Amino acid sequence: MKYVDEFRDPTMIARAFEEIRTLADPARHYRIMEVCGGHTHAIFRFGLKDLLPPNVELIHGPGCPVCVLPMGRIDDGLELAGDPHVIFTAFGDMMRVPGSQGSPLESKARGADVRIVYSPLDALKIAEANPDRQVVFFAIGFETTAPSTALTLLKARANRVRNFAVFCNHVTIIPAIRAILDSPDMRLDGFIGPGHVSTVIGCRPYEFIVRDYGCPIAVSGFEPLDILQSLVMVLRQLRDGIAKVENQYARVVPWEGNLAALRVLAEVFEVRAHFEWRGMGFISHSALRLRGEFAEWDAERTLPIRGVCVADPKAAQCGEVLKGVLKPHQCKLFGKECTPEQPIGALMVSPEGACAAHFKYRGAPQLVTLG
Ligand code: SF4
Repeated sequence: MKYVDEFRDPTMIARAFEEIRTLADPARHYRIMEVCGGHTHAIFRFGLKDLLPPNVELIHGPGCPVCVLPMGRIDDGLELAGDPHVIFTAFGDMMRVPGSQGSPLESKARGADVRIVYSPLDALKIAEANPDRQVVFFAIGFETTAPSTALTLLKARANRVRNFAVFCNHVTIIPAIRAILDSPDMRLDGFIGPGHVSTVIGCRPYEFIVRDYGCPIAVSGFEPLDILQSLVMVLRQLRDGIAKVENQYARVVPWEGNLAALRVLAEVFEVRAHFEWRGMGFISHSALRLRGEFAEWDAERTLPIRGVCVADPKAAQCGEVLKGVLKPHQCKLFGKECTPEQPIGALMVSPEGACAAHFKYRGAPQLVTLG
C-alpha cells in the first residue's frame, strides 16, 4: 500500500536503527518526547522502543485530547446527558472515559440518550431529525478535529438548526508544550512533533521551541520508518549542536498548515483565557471557545453547565504520566486497580493513551521483522 509499505520496509528500518546507534553518543543520555499519543501507540505496536540504544529514552507527551480532559468537564457533559430532553453525542473514544460518576457508556446504561457519532455533522443530522429534542455535541480534540466542529457550526447557523449545541472542549497543543518545557521537573533534549495536529497548524508554531528553549524538533508521521527518521533528524541536530524545526512528514504536513482550516477556526472560535488540563492544572490560552456570534449554539452559554472542578483520585498519577515525568507502569495503580476493563484514568482507555499502549503492547511488539 502506497505510503505504508515503504515506511515499513525492514531493510530501511534496519538502516535507520543503525544510523541512530551511530548518532547517539554513548556518553550522553537522550530524553526525546513524542508529543502525540498516536506516536506512543506506534512506538509500542511496532516494538521500536526495545530496539533503540538504552541511552535514547522516549518520553510520552500530552498529545491525547481525551486523556488531558479533566474529570469536571466529563461530569458537566454527563449532567446534560441526564436530562431526558437531551440527546448527548460524542466520538466513540469518549465513551469509556471515566468522570467522577462514571463514563458516557455507563450513563447510557442508566438510561441517558447517549449516541456515538463519527463526525459532528452526524450530530447535526440527529438534531435536524429530532426538532423536539436538544442535541449536544461533546466536542473534543486538538486543532486536528476543531475544523470539523467549526464547519458544523457554520452549517447549523446556515440551516438555522436551533436545537443543536456544542459543548466545546477543544484544546491547543502549543501552550501545553510550553508548559512542559517550563516544568522544573522536566529535562528534554528534543521532540518528535505531532503529525496530525501539524496537518492543520503546520510547522511554524513550533519555532518557539527552537528559539526559546534550544530544542530540536522533527514533525513526524506514524509509520515505524517515519518515527525512526524523525529520531535520526533530532539526534543529528544534537550531534551538530544546532536546533531547528524539521518536517519529516512533508508528504502530509504543509509548512504553513492548512490555510482553509485555519481560516474556519478563526471564524468560529476564540482562545480561552485559561483551561484546566488533567493533572497539569490551568494553562493559559490553551483551549478554544465559541465566538459570541455562535452563542446560541454554545452549550456553555445556553444550557445549565456548572463548570465543576473534580480532583483526580488521590493515588492516580495521570498528570505525572501526561507530563512525561513518570512512565505508565510507574503509576501505582497501573495494571492493578487501573486496567482497560476498570479504568481510573482516561489514559488507560483512550486509543491514544500512554497507559493503554503500555498495557496492550507490553512484551508483545508486532509487525516489524528485521531481515
Ligand atoms: S495507570 Fe490509570 S491512574 Fe495511573 S496514570 Fe494510567 S490511567 Fe492514570
